[in-house]
Amino acid sequence: MPSLRRHHLAVLTAGTLAFLAVGVLLVRAGQDAAAYAAYTLAYACGGYAATRAAWGALRAGRIDVNLLMLLAAAGAAALGAWDEGAVLLFLFSLSNTLEYYAMARTRRAIEALMALRPERALARRAAGEVTVAVEDVAVGETIVVRPGERIPLDGRVTAGVSDVDQAPITGESVPVTRTPGDVVFAGTINGGGLLEIEVTRPAGETTLARIIRMVAEAQSQRAPTQRLIDRVGQPYALGVIAASGALAAGLPLLAGWPLPDALYRAITLLVVASPCALVISTPASLLSAIANAARAGVLFKGGAALEALAGVRTVVFDKTGTLTRGVLVATDVVPTDGGSPQTLLALAAAAELRSEHHLAEGIVAAAQAWGLAVEPPATFQAVPGQGVIAQVAGAEVRVGVPELVTDAGAALPEPARRTLERLEAAGRTAVVVAASGRVLGVIGLADVVRPEAAEAVAALRRLGVARVGLVTGDNERTAAAVAAALAITHVEARLQPEEKVAAIRRLRAADGAVAMVGDGVNDAPALAAADVGVAMGGGGTDAALETADVVLMRDDLRRLVYALALARRARAVVVQNLAFAAAVIAALVVATLAAGLRLSAGVVGHEMSTVIVVANGLRLLRWRPPEAPAVAPPEEKPAPALK
Ligand code: ADP
Ligand code: MG
Repeated sequence: MPSLRRHHLAVLTAGTLAFLAVGVLLVRAGQDAAAYAAYTLAYACGGYAATRAAWGALRAGRIDVNLLMLLAAAGAAALGAWDEGAVLLFLFSLSNTLEYYAMARTRRAIEALMALRPERALARRAAGEVTVAVEDVAVGETIVVRPGERIPLDGRVTAGVSDVDQAPITGESVPVTRTPGDVVFAGTINGGGLLEIEVTRPAGETTLARIIRMVAEAQSQRAPTQRLIDRVGQPYALGVIAASGALAAGLPLLAGWPLPDALYRAITLLVVASPCALVISTPASLLSAIANAARAGVLFKGGAALEALAGVRTVVFDKTGTLTRGVLVATDVVPTDGGSPQTLLALAAAAELRSEHHLAEGIVAAAQAWGLAVEPPATFQAVPGQGVIAQVAGAEVRVGVPELVTDAGAALPEPARRTLERLEAAGRTAVVVAASGRVLGVIGLADVVRPEAAEAVAALRRLGVARVGLVTGDNERTAAAVAAALAITHVEARLQPEEKVAAIRRLRAADGAVAMVGDGVNDAPALAAADVGVAMGGGGTDAALETADVVLMRDDLRRLVYALALARRARAVVVQNLAFAAAVIAALVVATLAAGLRLSAGVVGHEMSTVIVVANGLRLLRWRPPEAPAVAPPEEKPAPALK
């Protein structure tokens, strides 16, 4: 009933009840004509919204529960059972109103996000500081955000220090201190300092704008259970009408019943067999769970993502930026061709300047720390999972894995090979640098495992995830070091993006549903190939965010555990609801056919079950993870298809 304002719905429901009560009193007083007038008004109030909805569905070629209810009410009136028909319309309209209010609570999650979008920004321009619409601020412009204001656009702090409350975007409850170089998001709230920010994204592409789009899409995307119900809904509704018709015609013809008695029973059947509760049980539960997750900084892009995550048996992590913080520090700059470390680092940094990779950030930061001049490359090409190729000062500079820098499988020169091995043995991520086909040296970088990663992996195991794996483009030794720290036994290293996809496919075939957690451009294909792709939202690339089904807005792996536990809970509630709704329908149908249930009793039973499944689904809004039981992680099964 989208076109009806919810208050109208509530008023119509109250009107139905009022006219129904007047009608009953008038009947008692013997005022039959006036009573019928009151009942007619009750029908008009109670049937208005249902008629509109049923008509809309019919024009789209569908029969829905609204039509079934209207048929039943019309039938009751035809039999002179106006009071029972009015009770039916009242309760149906009441449960629709409740449902509407319930759904509005989840919808409000989006409205609240929209309200976070500031409309104006203070831009620093030639004419001084001017207030302009956020849409008119170009990427690269500097904006000024005063204390206490909402940050209007995504950007990087260029001057000032302030505590920023990021709760609306990341769910972090404690404000974080932002200093020059730090990233800030539109919609977050500036604390006590003045910040100057260089805008990095246009208004329509900010993280907040994307979240709003994703949540909006999430509500229109249907979960598999929902699609199943949609599919069987039509034949089922037709079946109910046919069965009621058969009862109305069959009882008089075959069993000699008087027609009114047969009709009364047929109408009762029509009501109690209607799938109202079945239809509402899944969306009420899944939307509540999605709203709950959004508040905790976990974005599900739809009910389907929730259902898929609930069924996951294997969780596979990317390494750099996912299990590790993705803040790489260059620890070793080793020329192997007689040049200076400065030249080596400056060339590498120039080549990496346009790369979004965590490694690139580490290399560029090191060059800046050394005070080296880093000139922008004339051309730049990223090879995901391998490295970069760029034109710097007239030479083609390559930085990355040996296969990339030495063309077509040529072996690395001996000094470079030894350095690479030494650095890798020390647990470093090592990249080779070459210019114009000559290998110049090797750079080693170190990253740290996220502090919460071990706890998160252990919690996943306790939740019954059968296997936890690690796939990375990095070398085996670094991968093994991270895996050992986290008690992950299944490791695949030196994988190209498409090899990550193949690894995911093998695990799916061997063990059932797989979730892939990643952050990089190189992870995007694997995120798409997995049953559920989970992206790290804070440090993740756009490619990962767009491809993933679930986004952890704050780069905290414990949110993944939260998401998984919530998804399981939501699935359980959906199953409960469907089972309960089906059981009530079965019991009422049997009671109608075998025991001649009164229409009013059938109506009450039917509508109560609808209200109960909605209420049960809404409990998910308030769900919090129970304290995880301290159980030893189960033995892992050996992986058949892993290297
Ligand atoms: P991960 O799977 O751990 O996130 P990637 O697949 O992105 O890692 O990268 C795999 C390897 O490719 C890196 O360890 C590095 O050797 C090389 N590489 C990728 N991107 C770059 C880059 N921008 N600069 C240098 N090396 C890179
Ligand atoms: Mg990564």
